[in-house]
Order: sequence, then C-alpha cells, then structure tokens
Amino acid sequence: MTPYDDIAVPGPTPLIDGFGRTVTYLRLSVTDRCDLRCVYCMAEHMTFLPKAEVLTLEELDRIATAFVRLGTKKLRLTGGEPLVRKGMMGLVTSLGRHLGTGALDELTLTTNGTRLAEFAERLADAGVRRINVSMDTLKPDLFRTLTRGGDLAKVQAGAAAAKAAGLSVKINAVALRDSNADEIPDLVRWCHGHGYDLTLIETMPMGEVDVDRTDEYLSLKDVRRELESFWTLEDLPLTTGGPARYVRVAETGGRVGFITPMSHNFCETCNRVRLTCTGTLHTCLGQEDATDLRAVLRAGASDDILVETIRTAIAGKPRGHDFEIARRQPAVARHMSTTGG
Ligand code: SAM
Ligand code: SF4
Repeated sequence: MTPYDDIAVPGPTPLIDGFGRTVTYLRLSVTDRCDLRCVYCMAEHMTFLPKAEVLTLEELDRIATAFVRLGTKKLRLTGGEPLVRKGMMGLVTSLGRHLGTGALDELTLTTNGTRLAEFAERLADAGVRRINVSMDTLKPDLFRTLTRGGDLAKVQAGAAAAKAAGLSVKINAVALRDSNADEIPDLVRWCHGHGYDLTLIETMPMGEVDVDRTDEYLSLKDVRRELESFWTLEDLPLTTGGPARYVRVAETGGRVGFITPMSHNFCETCNRVRLTCTGTLHTCLGQEDATDLRAVLRAGASDDILVETIRTAIAGKPRGHDFEIARRQPAVARHMSTTGG
C-alpha cells in the first residue's frame, strides 16, 4: 500500500466534459529539463524552472493516482526528457501498481532515447509495454544540428534496447521542410526494417524558439501524397482519440501515423488532458485554459478537494483548439517541453 492508494473518489462517475467527451488519457510532464535542445522545441539557452516550482515525485504520483481513480486508462510520461529526472524509475514503478490492479490499461513514455539503453529493462519490469522514441533523421550530422549536440547512435541503441526488453517501439519524427523532408521514405524503411512504427508530426507553434517555424512547416498531406506515389497506404481504423491517423504500408508491412494538428481537426474525439511539470492542468493543448493543481496540493487539500478540482477543470474543457501557423506567432506561449508533447 502506498500513501495514495486510498485517494477518495465520490462514486464511479467517469470524467466527462461539457461536450460529452470522456477523458481517459493523461499526459504527464515530469520535468521541463532535457539533455538535448531540439531547434523546434527549445531555445539554445533555455532558462529552466526553479526546482521548487516543479512537482515532487510524490505530488506527481498523487495527481496521477487521482486521475486513475477517476477513470484514466492511459498515462503517458513525458517532458522535457522524462529519463533525465532523478528518481524517475521510482515514479514509473510506483505508477505501475495501477496496471497490477487493472485500474490502468497502459503506462507509457515519450523519450528522446538518449538514456533508454540504461533504463529499458527496468521500464519493462515496471509494466511499460510500448514506448515512443523521438528521432527526426538517420543522418548523424543532421541529428547533431537539429538537437544541438545529440548523438544519434545513442538514440538508436536506446530503441534497440527497448525492443530487446520486449517493448513495442514507435519512432516519432517531426516533419521539417528543409531538414528531413527528403529522407522520410528512408525513415519509413528504416523503422519498418527494425520492427518499429513511425509517427510523423507536423510542427506546432508552441513557445518562442530561435528559429521561425513557419519556414520549416511541412504539411503531412503532401508527405502522404508523396509516399502514395510509390507505396500502397492502407488506412487503419486504429484511433487513439488523438490527432494521429494510421496507415499500413503494404510493401513494408509496417505502420505510419500522421499527427496533423495544423491541417486536420481532431478535437471532437479528444479524450486527453495534460499536466505540466509544475502541476498546471491544461485540458486543451491549443488553448490557454489552466487549473493549478499544485496550489491545491500545497495548500494541504484533501483528496476529495483534489478530485473535485479535477472534475471542475474537465467540465470546462474547451471545444477545440485554434492553431494557425500563418499567424507566425506561438498559438500558446508555453513550450512543448513544459506542457509535455
Ligand atoms: N523529450 C522527449 C522527446 O523528445 O521525445 C519527450 C518530450 S518532447 C516535447 C515530445 C515530442 O514533442 C517529441 O516527439 C518532439 O519531437 C515533439 N515536439 C517538440 N516540439 C514540437 C513542436 N514545436 N512541434 C511539433 N512537435 C514537437
Ligand atoms: Fe528535449 Fe524532447 Fe524538446 Fe528535443 S523535443 S528538446 S528531446 S524535450
């Protein structure tokens, strides 16, 4: 029994928002820090948050557990880079208890992979079955440039270690017009050759970075059209309630996902909310709505009050987002690394 196994829940009512959508998926940013500085994500000289502002591991566990008790079925740990957070495996192992009870269906992570080789076995032991690893290119020099110093070999070794530990691996790649557009077919071949799925992501205007992202914006509609000119893409019914649409490439047998927040409206089926590493609950990635759960916890609130605060926040989940790349402005000021991608 951990300290938070007794979080009170007023009845088995699931979390339903004002538009009738049931929220079953929580993405939890466990840190704003990272060992890379991807050009589309962070400024080169980032100012990170004072440690006192970041939720402790116990606070993260308490909030996640409250969500699980409110019907959350899927938890994704992200960041910043989750595997650079000290004590991270303790949190993963602790949250893994909800898999054991059947309350939670899936515990997963999005990682840049630099430390994955070190942690893959322990993640598998904690009940993690699938993992997303971000890797935008197969070219070591370009990888170093895009991440401002990253070592591609380490990331690839991390993905291999995850596979060897029995995890399903999905590679995330941000589609960038001037950087990796021409190697997307190679990325598909490489991923499928290794038994990994590939998910392509359109750049999103999140937070000020040093580059002008509109110059790098590449519509995945165009990418899909190009892939279809030489492969057969079969639409898959698989839907995650998120912005991803999946196809199977008949020739490789592998899957490709397209995450198109800029060119496809997915809000009507949205089942997810996000918690920043400072304990702010955002019920929509593209809106400024926010509920400060850290303030609630640090004021010494009971579990009942925590649960009620979460319910109220979910009831106010906005209908949808309003990204518009042409504005050349971040749609929301917060960085993806704080919110959790
Ligand atoms: N550090 C981990 C990683 O890189 O996988 C987890 C956090 S990262 C913010 C999560 C995902 O968001 C990564 O796949 C990253 O490529 C993506 N991402 C970051 N900034 C983005 C942006 N402006 N537009 C689209 N995707 C972005
Ligand atoms: Fe770090 Fe992930 Fe952002 Fe890259 S995308 S800087 S790895 S948090």
